[in-house]
Amino acid sequence: MVSSPESDRVHFSAVGRSNPDMEGAFTVAYLSADRVRLVNAGAPPDVEFRGTLAAEEARSIRRMDPIRLAAELDRNPDWVVAEEEGGRLDVRWPGSYALASVQLEDGRVRAVSTVADLPLRGRVPVVWSWTWPPDAPDGVLELMVDGRPMFRATGARRVLPPAEAERLGHPSGGQPPREVPGRAWPAVVDMRTETIQPGVHVVRGVRTGFHHLVVETGAGLVVADAPSGWVEIHRLPPADLVPGLGISGLSERFLDYLSGQWPGVPIRAVVLTHAHDDHAGGARAFSAAGAEIYAAAEVAGFLETALNRSEMPVDRLSGVGQDVRVIGVEGTVVLSDADLPVELISMGVNPHVDAALGVHVPSAGIFFQSDLLVPRDTASTPRPDRLETDCWFASWATRSLPPGTVVHNSHGTVSPTIGNLAGYLDHDGCRGRTG
Ligand SMILES: [Zn+2]
Repeated sequence: MVSSPESDRVHFSAVGRSNPDMEGAFTVAYLSADRVRLVNAGAPPDVEFRGTLAAEEARSIRRMDPIRLAAELDRNPDWVVAEEEGGRLDVRWPGSYALASVQLEDGRVRAVSTVADLPLRGRVPVVWSWTWPPDAPDGVLELMVDGRPMFRATGARRVLPPAEAERLGHPSGGQPPREVPGRAWPAVVDMRTETIQPGVHVVRGVRTGFHHLVVETGAGLVVADAPSGWVEIHRLPPADLVPGLGISGLSERFLDYLSGQWPGVPIRAVVLTHAHDDHAGGARAFSAAGAEIYAAAEVAGFLETALNRSEMPVDRLSGVGQDVRVIGVEGTVVLSDADLPVELISMGVNPHVDAALGVHVPSAGIFFQSDLLVPRDTASTPRPDRLETDCWFASWATRSLPPGTVVHNSHGTVSPTIGNLAGYLDHDGCRGRTG
């Protein structure tokens, strides 16, 4: 991370696994309060969001630096609600729902303890700690979430020469960045319905990069996945990716959208493809709307416990006085219908998660899954950065689904056929891997 003492400018790079089967690297440059650039040094051009409201986000990233953080607290004495023994401060950042306990030592911050509300894990402790001896140029930051390491950063403190600092502002490859309206940063809700077959739709843009299958059956809508608000834990304090949506808020807005598109049509069921926060965390909203909730049998108990926590933020289900009930799927369960029966297929252990459901609409030739295949094109080759999962899914799908089936997914807009996927298995990257 590179930051500046006079401005909110921050340059932040990280490498890591967003999922057990996905590793990636990214660099974000907060160039000014209204300009954020995604730096694509490996594959220019960069993408630049103009007209953002990202000053607070930039400050929340910059707090990774324990000296900048101490200086900021010094400039804002009204954030400190109490001083405890041993140099500990109780701090409330503007807009944050939780207090943080800040430990100061030698003019820098030694540790920050706070909490975050995660959809499926509840309110969990979030602890940042810095090991950075006063005279040493290098330090280590560790972020523990619910007792587990989430993030580790090393810092080398030095003042950049002006030329080097200036170079950081240059767009990658000398190419002009691709400009994107600032309101799209970091994620927006911009829902629209794309009809892919009569009675079978994908609602796109439930938030940026989030798409949901909706099937019109005679008994009501069958929906794949219950999205939830996302907490950005690498920010201090942790903050909602889409501000103000909390945990159930995103699914509540999605349901309002569905009732606007299909007035008077009940929500028959929501199918939770897997037990990750972003796909299952909004299920309480569906329960409040009267929908049946389906998940793989292996995770149904976990989800039921997680979704019925008492200490979670107030939502539409809180007032109803009813518990979430999750129906476990083993093998295949059919939601019957004269025209569009919907098969829920348990897919078992895979490289992404230990249990997953796919949603198959055989009469429309459509299959929907989440996170097992997110192709960038319909070429018959797997993604080099997702080989293990792509090959696993291609093997499963070619064995389990009719050849003409088109595969849709929750994070992308490219929909290959089983024929495309059969090609994966002949590719070098998939040879020798077993499904
Ligand atoms: Zn996932």
